[in-house]
Formats: sequence, C-alpha cells, structure tokens
Amino acid sequence: MRFIGAHVSAAGGVENAILNAVKLNANGFALFTKNQRQWSAKPLSDKNIKTFKEYMQKYNFSNDAILPHDSYLINLGHPEIEKREKSLNAFIDEAKRVQALGLKYLNFHPGSHLRKISEEECLEIIANNINKAILETKSCIFVIETTAGQGSNLGYKFEHLKFIIDRVKDKERIGVCIDTAHIFAAGYDIRTKEAYENTMKEFDEIVGFEYLKGMHLNDSKAKFGSRVDRHHSLGKGEIGIEAFKFIMQDERIDNIPLILETIEPNLWKEEIELLRSFEKERDV
Ligand SMILES: [Zn+2]
Ligand SMILES: [Zn+2]
Repeated sequence: MRFIGAHVSAAGGVENAILNAVKLNANGFALFTKNQRQWSAKPLSDKNIKTFKEYMQKYNFSNDAILPHDSYLINLGHPEIEKREKSLNAFIDEAKRVQALGLKYLNFHPGSHLRKISEEECLEIIANNINKAILETKSCIFVIETTAGQGSNLGYKFEHLKFIIDRVKDKERIGVCIDTAHIFAAGYDIRTKEAYENTMKEFDEIVGFEYLKGMHLNDSKAKFGSRVDRHHSLGKGEIGIEAFKFIMQDERIDNIPLILETIEPNLWKEEIELLRSFEKERDV
C-alpha cells in the first residue's frame, strides 16, 4: 500500500500531527518531533507519547507510513569536531524521540562540508557519525535524503548516498529518501516517461530500491540542474504533473511514505486526492 500524506504541523504536541494528517485524509505523514530551528527541546512527556500511540491506533496509522524529519541545524559532516559532536548528540536525541513514539524512521540531510574539507572527507565523517548513532540507539532506521546540492550540501548525487551506505556497518538501519524537487534541481530529470525511467534505473543501479524508505513529492520552482532548493505545488513548477503520475504508477515504489512538502498547505488535501487518483489509474 502507498502511504500518502504531507509534512504536517506538530505545534502544541507531537500527537497533533496525527490529527492534522487525519484532516487531510492522509494515510501517512511526516513531522518534526521538536522545533526544527532550535538545538534543544523538552523531552517528550509521557502524556505526549501515550496520546501519540493512542491516536496512531485509533486512526489506523502504521509506523511504516510515518517519516519524521530531523532538525535543520544538524550537520553530521561538520568540518569542526566540536560542532560535529553537537550535531551527533542532537541527532541521537532525535532518534531516541522517534523510538519513544514507536516510529521507525529518521529522515535527515547528509551534511555540508562548508568548503573547509573535501566532499569525500565530509562523506566519511557522515558515515562515521551514522555508525555511532546506530550504536547509541536500538531500532531507528536512518533515512538519508537526496538534496538539491545548494551551497556545500552533499547528497546531490546518488553516488554520495552509495558512498555512505557502503560504510554503514548495519545495513538494516540505513535507508534513503528521494525528494523529487531536490533530485530535479540536482540534474536528474523525471519530466518525461523516458527521463523518469532513466533516472530510476540509475538510482536502482547505484543505490538500489531496497534502500528506498520514503519519498518527498514536491514540484520545483527552481530550474532543472540549478542546484537551488525551492519547492512548488504539484503541477505548478518546472517538473510538471506527469512525473507524479509515473511515481504513483511505479510498482517498485510501494509500502513507503510519500510525503508532500509543497508550499501551499491548503492544497494538500486536493494534492493527496490527485495522487490517489493516479494510483487508481494504475490499478484499473
Ligand atoms: Zn528534508
Ligand atoms: Zn524533502
């Protein structure tokens, strides 16, 4: 089953993310389990955790359908040791929050070299930090997101993901998330059936669909190959609506959360409906 939803607000408590997803008729969602622009956060209270788990059951959400995203401040590849440690600690804390909520995944951007170290050195540091986070946690699967390659962000090539995965010791604890706007801006075309198939073939050969644990479905305001990260509503940007039909009808993409991070939350309900209609066309 395809889990379709959006990155919903968890304002007022993580449990509210579920209520917000229900309002969209979503069967999956993404959330921040803490304020994504701050380093520290209060621990989740027993009441938050209990209510979250109750709502998960009540509204029939599977933990396979939820893709929590970590804080934007975290840079696991930071060139400076102290800042890298700070990021690793925050990352482990995020993973523990996810585990406490009974969730499986933690979605994150690989990191940035800040033009102080080479791409390869930075990727090595990131892989090391993931290995450390795996040892410090029990079950969380760390899901590396593809990026647009804006600034000095790594993750704009499938080879970057492979480089990291190759160095992660416990392969059961690592996965990837394709963000359509990001890969498009990074130079992977998905606008026509042929382009889509070529990009996905390349993904499968380099990374492998077995590692695909989620997708972010966004159109892009930024042009193809621009390395600029600007999301748009489905069908309104440079990618166009066809690509999302290819995804919804791709049999290799199943049982994972498909998350909208499009720019107009008031369109999410319609966008989810549209994606479901594409999925049904496949089934006919
Ligand atoms: Zn992201
Ligand atoms: Zn994304």
